Amino acid sequence: MRFEISKVLDAIEGRVCTDPQLARAVVDLAEIIRYQDLDGGRPASTLRLGMVIDALARSLEEDNVPVYAVVHRGVLSDADLTSNERMVVRRWADDGLVEVLDNPGDRMLEVADLLGLPVLSRVRFDGLRGRFPWLVEQPGRVLAPVPGAGGPVFIAHVGGGHTPVAGPPSPAAAQLLAREWRCSESGCNLFGGGGGGGAFADLARVDRAPTGQPPPSLRNGVPTCPRHGSRLRDAGPRPRSEVLAVRVGGLIRRRFALTEDQPVLVGRAPEGSGGIMLGQWLNDEARRWISRSHLRLELRGSDVMVTDVSTNGSGIRPAGSLADADRIPLAPQQSRVLAGGDMVELYPGVQIGRPADLPSGAPYNPDSVMSEAPTMAMRLPR
Ligand SMILES: [Zn+2]
Repeated sequence: MRFEISKVLDAIEGRVCTDPQLARAVVDLAEIIRYQDLDGGRPASTLRLGMVIDALARSLEEDNVPVYAVVHRGVLSDADLTSNERMVVRRWADDGLVEVLDNPGDRMLEVADLLGLPVLSRVRFDGLRGRFPWLVEQPGRVLAPVPGAGGPVFIAHVGGGHTPVAGPPSPAAAQLLAREWRCSESGCNLFGGGGGGGAFADLARVDRAPTGQPPPSLRNGVPTCPRHGSRLRDAGPRPRSEVLAVRVGGLIRRRFALTEDQPVLVGRAPEGSGGIMLGQWLNDEARRWISRSHLRLELRGSDVMVTDVSTNGSGIRPAGSLADADRIPLAPQQSRVLAGGDMVELYPGVQIGRPADLPSGAPYNPDSVMSEAPTMAMRLPR
């Protein structure tokens, strides 16, 4: 039982991040773990975060949608959580997967504002509508997760819709996210990199890819560490990056960021770290066809370069066309620039491209974060 809960928490861990390119909604963990009416279980349970993440995936009809979680420091010692859960949340905090703050204040709304993300919360934020006009002007930007027949569903605070809606990122975000930032506190797990140079700087646990750095907090126009309240140092331009997505069986299964300094291998089970493993989504035939490492993706300037490193080859579908006559073969060892609108196909129905270029509309057949233990939340001791 304990082991199974750990597996669910591991699955949830893969869906929390502070990466501005990949997060799809903002949540307050301290609030969500206390939505007791979602499962009628213990007063506080981190599994409710998994239920809300699943609901977001259903709603966006996309698999593996990560959320940006802001966490009050008190959660790390919340006696209503099990010791195992507290340990897991501490690990997320140490690894910079969640943003732990002494006083979260309106940081959740600031992140949503900067990145244009929807907020999943039952709080109405009436007092903040002047500062963040999109709270009222954009229906679907704030939705309350509430109990539904097959798990949580969302109800928008304004307009009553059910689907989270992203807005335009704030103009300040483009400038903030163009730079890399360093916190003067050594070991800062949000803006680390040994900025303090103190005796313990080497102990900073996070060697975060600069492109995945969270958005700084803006205080009186000054980029500030939301954790430590200290002014951030500009450490130079952020490397260029491009978000790509894996589509299998008509459904986007996962998004990932490709950066200038790090090629990405995609295949059935690529060796080394940082590869994109497809094996879990493939049927036997596709698994036989697709090599362990099948494609290498590189970002050169603004071009996405695709190189086939497989035994069987791939194909390019120009402008996302699913007509076989349009498919351009990509032979083993051959390279090609992935033009705007193109997707590369490793096997029929297994494709990679920019998320907006991938056709949608397939029946939603997701991978639940709770799938390892679907009724776990119900069986928790009351
Ligand atoms: Zn800091």
